Amino acid sequence: MAIDFTFSPEIEEARQMTRKFMHGVVRPKLAELREAGESRGRGAWREAINELRQKAREEGLWAPHMPKEVGGMGLGITATAMMSAEATKTPMGPYIINCAAPNEGNMHTLLHFGTEEQKEKWLKPLMEGTMQSCFSMTEPDVAGSDPTQIQTQAVEDGDEWVINGRKWFTSGAQRADFAIVIAKTDDDAEVAQGRTSAFIVPLDTPGFRIVRDVQTMGGGGGHPEVEYKNVRIPKENMLGPRGRGHELGQVRLGPARLGHCMRWIGQIEMALEMLIERAQNRFAHGSLLSEKQSIQWMMAHSTLELYQAKLMVLHAAYRIEQGVDFRPEVSMAKYHVANTLWRTVDRALQVHGALGYSKDTPLADMLINARWSRIADGSDEVHLMRIAQFAMRSYNEQGDLSIATGQLPI
Ligand SMILES: Cc1cc2nc3c(=O)[nH]c(=O)nc-3n(C[C@H](O)[C@H](O)[C@H](O)COP(=O)(O)OP(=O)(O)OC[C@H]3O[C@@H](n4cnc5c(N)ncnc54)[C@H](O)[C@@H]3O)c2cc1C
Repeated sequence: MAIDFTFSPEIEEARQMTRKFMHGVVRPKLAELREAGESRGRGAWREAINELRQKAREEGLWAPHMPKEVGGMGLGITATAMMSAEATKTPMGPYIINCAAPNEGNMHTLLHFGTEEQKEKWLKPLMEGTMQSCFSMTEPDVAGSDPTQIQTQAVEDGDEWVINGRKWFTSGAQRADFAIVIAKTDDDAEVAQGRTSAFIVPLDTPGFRIVRDVQTMGGGGGHPEVEYKNVRIPKENMLGPRGRGHELGQVRLGPARLGHCMRWIGQIEMALEMLIERAQNRFAHGSLLSEKQSIQWMMAHSTLELYQAKLMVLHAAYRIEQGVDFRPEVSMAKYHVANTLWRTVDRALQVHGALGYSKDTPLADMLINARWSRIADGSDEVHLMRIAQFAMRSYNEQGDLSIATGQLPI
């Protein structure tokens, strides 16, 4: 069996180009904008980010996860992993090269479930960067961890669907042109997972309303509560087959969860590098922090966990590319990478002392962001539950743990 962790020269080149573009073009532009301060207003920021997106596209650094036929780089998910990890070390990096959530997951979903007309109308503008989208599944009144409880209802009326319900944490809805909405269509479906379907809802449809901007640990402006009140959409806006909303959500979440992991790896690396840099330059009680064993153990644990994270993400991506079941691997990767992010950023912040707690470094914001990684796209406990289920299934069906441990040949 061949085990090869090297990338082809073209893929390595894409990584180097991403790094060069982020360091040479994006970071200086962001620094210039920051220096100009608030006085330039949000309009100037938006304009500058759009210009950077345009430049990235011209350089061929655009939607690495999507096939070339639809305007992406066709890199496949494994190669996208390292490009995403590289881009995420720069603020807005993944958005600038058009592989940020939630558009990234929605592009996959439209590619795999969309009709030709839907691809033309909704995927194409996402690929061209002229539209924004969001994903609207979680509801305030029922547990998001269990989507079989979704209450938002879609009812057929002539050649339209009429949607009623309330969602929240529909990330990016304020700036989005359309939402992929999961709603109940078949109350009495035999299996609970067959009750919901997915719909494409243009957000200028009458009856759609942003109820409020939810203030979070990380501030506001990102995850609003929204209402669908007698929202009428044409029949052809159903995405994928009727009764397959749950499945579509799961298929979407495989690569989307891994997309998060890839970006988090970039953040983990950045935090660990900051920890090492600080420890080698801060002197206390007769030696540098880096010479103290307790600090070295922080470095060692973070390095070990980062290495595990990289292997898990690469292996899960490999399984997605091979077209084989990837659910245990993605669950394990998502749980491990999210928790490594949380611990590593916390350690880096600790080593920076008061500076870490201040906003003079990005660590405080990184820690706040790291907290949601353990909740969104499946909370820790749900992934642990799934991992345990796979372990029991593997043991009971095969008398060993191979299904639960990546089906590796050892
Ligand atoms: C920053 C952020 C962005 C988000 N973006 C989106 C988005 O764009 N679109 C969207 O639809 N949703 C989004 N979400 C919502 C997210 O998917 C849900 O928060 C998640 O699915 C959990 O649902 P819940 O919040 O209702 O928690 P609940 O389902 O109520 O769960 C609460 C807690 O209960 C525990 N728990 C749940 N099930 C089990 C179990 N089986 N065993 C043991 N413990 C359990 C866990 O500790 C869990 O954290 C986002 C959330 C965040 C924080």
